[in-house]
Amino acid sequence: MNRLVLFRSKFCSCLSTNFASISNVSRFSSKSTRHPRIKTDFKRSLQSCNKRYQMPKTPDLIYMPHVIRWVKSKLRFKYLKKIWDPDFSEGAFIYGSTKAVCRITEIISSGKTEELDSLMTVSAKIKLQDDMNYRLSQVQKNLIMLKPEDIKILVPINVTFSKDGPGKMCRVGLRVLALKWHEVTADNYKLVLVALQTEFSRDYSDDAPPEWIISGFSILECAIRPTTFNNMNNLNIELLKALQCSCCFDYMKGVIYICFTGHSVCDTCWNAHNSCLICEYALTDTRNYSLEGVCGLVEYPCENNDKGCPQYLKLEELEEHRQLCDYRSYGCNLDKQCSWEGRRDQLKKHYLDKHDDNVLIGEECTCLWKHDKPGHTVYLMLAFDELFYVHNRSVNDIMYWTVQYIGRSEDVILFYFEIEIFTDQFNDRRLAFSEICHDDVKVEVDEILDSGFCVAVPLTVLETYMNTEGVVFYKIKIRRA
Ligand SMILES: [Zn+2]
Ligand SMILES: [Zn+2]
Ligand SMILES: [Zn+2]
Ligand SMILES: [Zn+2]
Repeated sequence: MNRLVLFRSKFCSCLSTNFASISNVSRFSSKSTRHPRIKTDFKRSLQSCNKRYQMPKTPDLIYMPHVIRWVKSKLRFKYLKKIWDPDFSEGAFIYGSTKAVCRITEIISSGKTEELDSLMTVSAKIKLQDDMNYRLSQVQKNLIMLKPEDIKILVPINVTFSKDGPGKMCRVGLRVLALKWHEVTADNYKLVLVALQTEFSRDYSDDAPPEWIISGFSILECAIRPTTFNNMNNLNIELLKALQCSCCFDYMKGVIYICFTGHSVCDTCWNAHNSCLICEYALTDTRNYSLEGVCGLVEYPCENNDKGCPQYLKLEELEEHRQLCDYRSYGCNLDKQCSWEGRRDQLKKHYLDKHDDNVLIGEECTCLWKHDKPGHTVYLMLAFDELFYVHNRSVNDIMYWTVQYIGRSEDVILFYFEIEIFTDQFNDRRLAFSEICHDDVKVEVDEILDSGFCVAVPLTVLETYMNTEGVVFYKIKIRRA
């Protein structure tokens, strides 16, 4: 078999003294002395960007081992060394498996699955390929690549031996938790959590090669967490860190539960999971009231912080801000079938690229309406370097027009619009209206029409402006107030 040796415990035994100490302690974190690279990389990248940013350090993960399981693993590793493999060293094993896990995540990122052949059993490879094809998004594949210093917790959760005639197998299940920084923009870093469950096997039959191979690799979690380090006072930063959920690393807001060993989890995780992601003990019904009290004191970053929103808000202000936030995500308003989503500054390009029939350019544009046109037409109008939606809708034999300003709600008062309906048959017949613009927070146009602050013309009147081809012309004008 042309299989490369992943790692051999014998080969690495010189390192065992270094790593035995790590595997013996139940708490290890990203201390700078152990991970100098993270720190220097950050220093360099942060020096080049905004000075307001704090020097980030990944949060500590405190691992409370499942005591019985921990003792069991220790005894079984001892048994392995004594009876099956005198060269076995737990430290070297942990070192080798850390390297192997990193290598697999690297292959997931690169997509070169043929490189998995030498590292994994066939069944583990098939499962992982399946996950790569159907479960992991492209974003997750990009995020998952780990370096050894990203791995904060790597612990054996079970060690089993099986004998089948002359065949002898040892399997070690490992839980891996990793935290790392992901650069969203030049001055904005997001925390990424990766949780894995892996199994390493070694065939101890007489003629088998002396190597460990991955026989299981499950990705439990791979996601960006909303840890941000913008311009905040230190106390707020520290309080926010204390409010990170032990399961999802999102900030806990309001109801907080604890696991059996005392890790705090958010409401959502409590509903979604039975056990704690960090220690695997059961989540209890016990609330952490004192920490819940802290939620009312801190200022949380807006959920669009990664898109540039600088706002920090009290818990009770978050929801209102979410609806008004200038950096919120916009959907496509011109075509219900279109699934596009993006920021406000990307709207114009999308509409010009995909729906240019519905884009009006300039402060005064002439449009036409035909009887057979759909009941609701939306245009994007570009005027004064700003964006507006022009809605034209007929309901119950009345034609309505309204204009929404796409931007900060406070700025809507800077503009108003005019509608002028005219006919080329009679020069002295025209209908003209002037009306206020609305903000784009009320996405449901019905609400604006119900409010009465819009232009409304009965279809019977409108039809008197029709030319011989059944077309009504009107001008729409955006004005500065
Ligand atoms: Zn959570
Ligand atoms: Zn826990
Ligand atoms: Zn915001
Ligand atoms: Zn679209």
